Parts: sequence; C-alpha cells; structure tokens
Amino acid sequence: MKSQYEVVVIGGGIVGCSVLYHLTLRGMTDVALIERGELTAGSSWHAAGGFHAINSDTTIAALQKYTISMYPKVEEESGQSTGLHLTGGLELAGTPERWEWLKSELAWLRAMDTEAYLVTPEQAAEMVPIIDPAGLQGALFDPHEGNLDPHGATHAYAGAARKRGADVIQHNQVLALTKLPTGEWQLETEHGLITAAHIVNAGGLWARKVGRMVGVDHPLVPMQHHYLVTEDVPEVAAIEGDMPAVTDLEGFTYLQRERNGVLLGVYETNPKHWMVNGPGWDYGMELIAEEIERISPELSIGFERFPALQKVGIRRWVNGGITFTPDGNPLVGPVPGVHNYWAACGVMAGFSQGAGIGLALANWIVDGDPGDDVFGMDVARFGPYASNDSYLRQTTGQFYARRFLMAYPNEELPAGRPLKTTPSYDELKAAGAQFGVVWGLEVPLYYASGQPDFVEHPTLERSNAHDIVGAEVEATRTAAGLYETAAYARYEVTGPGAEQWLDRLLACQMPALGRTRLAPMLNHAGRLMGDLSITKLDEDRYWLVGSYYLQEWHQRWFRQHLPQDLPQDVSHTDVQGGVQITNVTDQWMGFSLSGPNSRQVLAQLTHESVGHADFPLFSHRLMDVGNTEAVVGRLSLTGELGFEITVPTSQHRALLQQLRGAGGAHGLRLIGDRAIDSLRLEKAYGIWSAEFTQAYTPGMSGLDRFVAYDKDNFIGRDAARREREVGSTQRLVLLDVDADKADASGDEGIWLDGRRVGFVTSGSYGHSVKKSLALAYVDTEIAEAAPPLVVHVIGEERAARILPEAPYDPKGEKLRV
Ligand SMILES: Cc1cc2nc3c(=O)[nH]c(=O)nc-3n(C[C@H](O)[C@H](O)[C@H](O)COP(=O)(O)OP(=O)(O)OC[C@H]3O[C@@H](n4cnc5c(N)ncnc54)[C@H](O)[C@@H]3O)c2cc1C
Repeated sequence: MKSQYEVVVIGGGIVGCSVLYHLTLRGMTDVALIERGELTAGSSWHAAGGFHAINSDTTIAALQKYTISMYPKVEEESGQSTGLHLTGGLELAGTPERWEWLKSELAWLRAMDTEAYLVTPEQAAEMVPIIDPAGLQGALFDPHEGNLDPHGATHAYAGAARKRGADVIQHNQVLALTKLPTGEWQLETEHGLITAAHIVNAGGLWARKVGRMVGVDHPLVPMQHHYLVTEDVPEVAAIEGDMPAVTDLEGFTYLQRERNGVLLGVYETNPKHWMVNGPGWDYGMELIAEEIERISPELSIGFERFPALQKVGIRRWVNGGITFTPDGNPLVGPVPGVHNYWAACGVMAGFSQGAGIGLALANWIVDGDPGDDVFGMDVARFGPYASNDSYLRQTTGQFYARRFLMAYPNEELPAGRPLKTTPSYDELKAAGAQFGVVWGLEVPLYYASGQPDFVEHPTLERSNAHDIVGAEVEATRTAAGLYETAAYARYEVTGPGAEQWLDRLLACQMPALGRTRLAPMLNHAGRLMGDLSITKLDEDRYWLVGSYYLQEWHQRWFRQHLPQDLPQDVSHTDVQGGVQITNVTDQWMGFSLSGPNSRQVLAQLTHESVGHADFPLFSHRLMDVGNTEAVVGRLSLTGELGFEITVPTSQHRALLQQLRGAGGAHGLRLIGDRAIDSLRLEKAYGIWSAEFTQAYTPGMSGLDRFVAYDKDNFIGRDAARREREVGSTQRLVLLDVDADKADASGDEGIWLDGRRVGFVTSGSYGHSVKKSLALAYVDTEIAEAAPPLVVHVIGEERAARILPEAPYDPKGEKLRV
C-alpha cells in the first residue's frame, strides 16, 4: 500500500473491482482498491450470480449487454475462471395480458439487436423439463441470460486490474474521509493514512455509511433477499449441458440450474428492509436467518410451477442483503456538491451491471464525461428528498414488491406520495386533477372534472382517460388551456460576471433585456446537456429555466463550469467570479395560459397592453396579474398564442383563482401533462428525456437552429461546428403511425425492409389532427428519402410515414397573432 494514489476505490465487491479494472483499462495505474474484509465480503458473495440484459432504460440495457460480454475477457486476462454459463433464459407468461406484454418486450429486444424469440408453453417445458406448462400462455427466450460464479467473477476483475498495475488492499477498513486544504482526500484506514485526488464509494451494503463520512446521505437501503438451493433433481441431472434460466413473472420466482439441482429465488410481495443505515462494521460474511413463513405464498406458487421440486430436499437457504434505490437503478457518477467524490453504489444487480458501471465511471473520471446518456443511473437524478428514511422504505419496498409485475406507461405508483405539493394542489384536486409525480412533486396529468370516482386502468393501449385528454386538447386549440408550470426548475443568475458566464455556458446568443431565448447547453463533445430557456430580466439578472427533475444534475454542471475551479463544495447559492447562481425553483411558480382566447383572459386581469405589438413573442414583462405580482412571458408549449405567468409561490393559488375566474367566460379549461404531450407532438416539439438527452446533438435534434455557431466561445463549440460541417448521422422526425387502439410510447424500433433504422422517442395521439404521432430518431438518409416505414407498437407491426412538416400550424402563425 502506498500513501498516495490518484484514485482510491472503497469496496471490493463486484462493482468496486470492475471500477478498478476499467480505470486501468483507461490507462490509469496509480489506483488502488481498499476492502474492509476480503473481496466479495458484502452482498457479492451471496449472489445467485444470475445475469440478464433486459432493463427498461435502453442505455442501461446496452451496458448490461456490455457487462455480459466482458466476462470472457477478464477471465482470459486474469487467468481466473468466472464460471460463466450463457444459458439463455425464459420469461413465462401466465396471463393473456402478460403474453401481450412479452410480445411488446420481444419487439423492444429485437430493436436492441437481441435475437430473442417467443416459444409455446410446451416448447418452454421441453427446454426446462421441470416446468409445468399448465395455464401458461407462452414464454420469451432471451439468449443474453445466464449465471456465473460471483467469487470467481469478482476475483477475475481484481486480478486483471492488478496485472494492469492497480493495488488491491484487503483487510483494511476505511475509517474516515477528510477533505484537505489542497483539495485532495485523506483516507484514514486501519493501516494508515492515504491521500487521493479521487475517491469512489463502492461500499455496497455499507455505502450509506461511507457517504456519511463526507456528509452525503445516499438514497439506498439494504433489503432482505432469499433463494434456496435444492438437492439433485433427476430431471435436471438428466440434462446434458446448460439449462436455460426461468423467470416465472406471475409466480415472483426465478430459477437456474445449480449443479444437478436448482436455485430458486423469490421476489416476495411482502418484502422486508434490513439494516437501513448499513450493517455494523463488524458484520462478516454471515447470512440472515431465513424467513420462510414470510415468503411462503410465492414459494408455494414456485413449487406448483416446478412440481419436481416438491420431491427433493433443500440443500441450503440463502437470505442476504441487497441495496435498493427508489427506482432500482444504481447511483453512479460525481456526487453533486462534493468535489472528486464518486458514487458506484446502490447496485441491485451487480453481475448484470458491474462492467457497465465500471466503464461509465472510468470514462467520467478520465474524460469528465461518461461517454453515453447514463442519466438512468446517474447519482444526480435524485434530490435530497429521496434520502428520507420513510420515503426510501416506501419506494424501495414498492420497487422490490413490483419487480416482476407488469409496468404500464400510464401507471402512477403510490409510494412516498404525496410529498411535494404546490399551494394550488387542493384546488386542482377538487377540479378533478389526476396526479403523476415528478421528482417528488405532484403534477396534474389531466382533469377528470365532474367524475369524482374516476379511476384510470393501467394498459398498454389508449386508456379510459383518452377522451378526457382529447377534450383538454380541443379546449386549448379552440379557446384556452391552463397548465400548471410548477415542474419547471428556475435558476436566477446575477452579478457583473453573469452575462459572460452564461454566454460561455450556453450555445445560444444572449437575449436582449426583456427577451427570452431557447438555450441549448452542450458538453465538450457537442452533445446536449440541456434545453433551457434564458430570460434577461434586468441588467446582470437572468432566469434560466429547465426541467424540474434535473435540478441536481444541472446544478452539478453549472458548478463544474463556474469561472474558477474552486470551490465546488457549495450548494444552493454559488457565488464566484462575479456570478451568483441561486436555485429559485421553490420560490417561483406559475401557470401557462395558451389558446386563441388566452389574450382576452389575461387582458381582463391587467391594465397593461398585452397585444402583439406591445407584447411580442419571446418578450417578458413584470406586471400585475389580478392582485399578484407576476413575471409574464409571451411563450407557449402548445403552439397556440400563449403566456407563461410566474409569481412568488405564496401567490400561486391566488393566481390560479383569478385566472379561472377570468377564464370562465372564454372557455378556459385546466389541462395536464397528457394534453401537453398531444399538443406538442402535433407541433413536433421535443422535450428533455425523450427527444433531447446527452445521446443527441444539436444537428440530430433540430436544436441547431438555436445555436449561435459564430459566437466567440461556448462549451462544445468546436464539436458543434464540426457536426455542422460533416452533418449528423441521425435526425429527429415526426411519424404518422397507422395505429388504432394504442400509440407508440417510446423506445419502439423503426424498421425498413427488416432493417432497424431508428427508434421512437415519444408518442401520443394528436387529438386535434386525429393522427397517432411519434417523434423518432432515424438514420439521416431515411429522414431525407422518407420511405414507408414500420413501427412496432405493443409488438404489432404498424405502417408509419415521415411527415414533411408538423401537422398543426406548420408555419407557426398561431403563435404570432
Ligand atoms: C441473496 C442474494 C442473491 C443475489 N443474486 C444476484 C444475482 O443473481 N445477480 C445479480 O446481479 N445480483 C445478485 N445479487 C445482488 C448482488 O449481490 C449485488 O448487486 C452486488 O453484489 C453488489 O456489489 P457491490 O460491489 O456494489 O457491493 P458489495 O458486494 O456489498 O461490496 C461492497 C464492499 O465494500 C466493502 N466496504 C464497505 N465499506 C468499506 C470501508 N469503509 N472500507 C473498506 N471496505 C469497505 C465491503 O466489505 C464490501 O466487500 C444478490 C444478492 C443477494 C443478497
């Protein structure tokens, strides 16, 4: 052990070892891993060692595929066997709904270039002879599944990293972490002090404790998880070679071959947390006593689905701790507000995800960028609200219990809600609001007014809320729609250095006083980091507006690009180099009023002229609206004439009441997110997380029209200019899909003559143009030639054509009236 390293990884489970190895792959040799006990001494030694590539997040799914591909490589490099068996796996469908769901999963897997296929119940029982096919609808076979030896795999990573120059130090606990005045970290360990420029928390079950050493409370908790291993099962023993793994989705169990018997794991619907603050430091490689009673409902189903198990004994039980986060995905990346402290924790499926995490984190440390759109596992996707113990218990419990349940795009889950509400919440609820949740905030999806008992049914097809949404769209197109904009994040940037800093941060021109601009923000590789808007409220006073759920993520980026390098360990208000950035999201919120009658509604509440000449598109005014003091912008999300009205939060409810009062005579209707989706698709407007992500560039997304390529300097300028010269390989297009009862919802593949040429990013029914619409990225030559295409919507092939322009008001005339 040396006393100084560039990077120290804390924790020698599968994740820490993979991070260490990937750092060495990127050429870093001044790196070490420190492990409290021996390698695998946390969750890793318990693991069933199963792996698969399926994940609802496409980037994470690709990283899982990468993980699986890495095992033979590290095995060869290290000389340590990983015990890899690429057996493939069956997912069983026990109901007609699940069968439909598996068909749509198959379409998605095919779009991800995975050679999956469907089989009949009888074929499934041939592949795995202990399956009782009674009652099954069929199964999906995915070749990217299998199992390995967790001990071997972890040691293979460590061995390969060692060979590339890394140190692996075992039996040495990290006791404390301190930031030195030099900006380096000091690690106090059982065997002495170490300094390091970077530290990585791969502490697994103890990661929350390690985080607290630097003042961070990570949103993760351990939960109990059981599996059993049987004595020999004659039907299994008779199989020569590998046997596919099986997941019985309706039965909450998974099964894989373990020598001549099987391993049966359970995701019970009555889960239990364990050591929510992490186990004691003296907790060894011990098992938790099994709780058979608690998991017996699911076990009984398992023993019915696999009746041969009723005839054999149980060789051993394993009940161990796994860490879960509220959405089940890991926490990876630079931790906001704590310079050079990196997370690689909260990993529920380390043997599916370990290499993907290692790859992204090593890229991030070396290049300052993970190399892909890894937001789905970025540690900055949660805010401080998510670390509350009770919230964590509820959300992780929900995730665990629903692990094998079908997820529907229109489903809203109840855990941890309501947490954040606006002052207008009760009034909107009384008006029929059906809420979804964004970053803990309740947001209206649509208003089932006059239907107090309305319940939306989870479905892959158009739901029973379809007509309600249609009426909201209609009201906006013909009269006025009122949409709550509390789910906007707002940053106030002030000070003498504000303009200069913003000019470098954003790729657009700076707005003139009283004006707003759409403001793409790029990273150094020229990829999107934000689709913000910027308003100049005063000399040296700007508002930047972005997505509510990106607050931590965006503020981390802002801080990383402050005028000087230090300090980055600050939050809320960052003052530096004459720039002050204050997150005022919770202090200001409002409503977006749009539609042909919106001007009359606003005019009734103000003495100012709101006519087009005095108040043109993209201008801003400070004005009284009713008795509120508002900042009003002439902007619209819907493609109609519109105004965004923002007030101090304490006046939010008063604003709502006055707008509703004034709007009554003008056909004003409250509208929610679903109507906005329909309205924006009719205008081919993209949004962050779907059309705009780190995976795309200005040229691909069409945001290039807001990029000031001739500006002196801005982050990502050179890459953006290069792209403009050579052109982009993909383009965002709007599709008219020949769908009848279901619309695309995102991630569906787009095909031409059996070749995948793109992906849907979001879809909705365009209620006023009466078309099923989808925004999608397709290869550039396809975007230009616009041939007839095929989209898989819930597993069914649907004809689609590229629309040459938005089907609603393509010239944008209605915006400019
Ligand atoms: C019963 C069971 C079955 C499972 N089955 C599967 C499966 O089939 N497939 C799958 O992918 N996953 C499975 N898992 C989950 C899997 O085990 C975890 O996702 C994975 O092991 C997490 O690895 P890790 O490296 O993040 O954490 P851990 O394995 O917990 O490693 C963290 C390490 O950090 C060390 N450490 C912590 N604090 C310090 C400190 N202060 N100083 C020094 N060292 C420290 C610990 O000693 C520990 O070794 C299963 C888990 C259980 C319990």
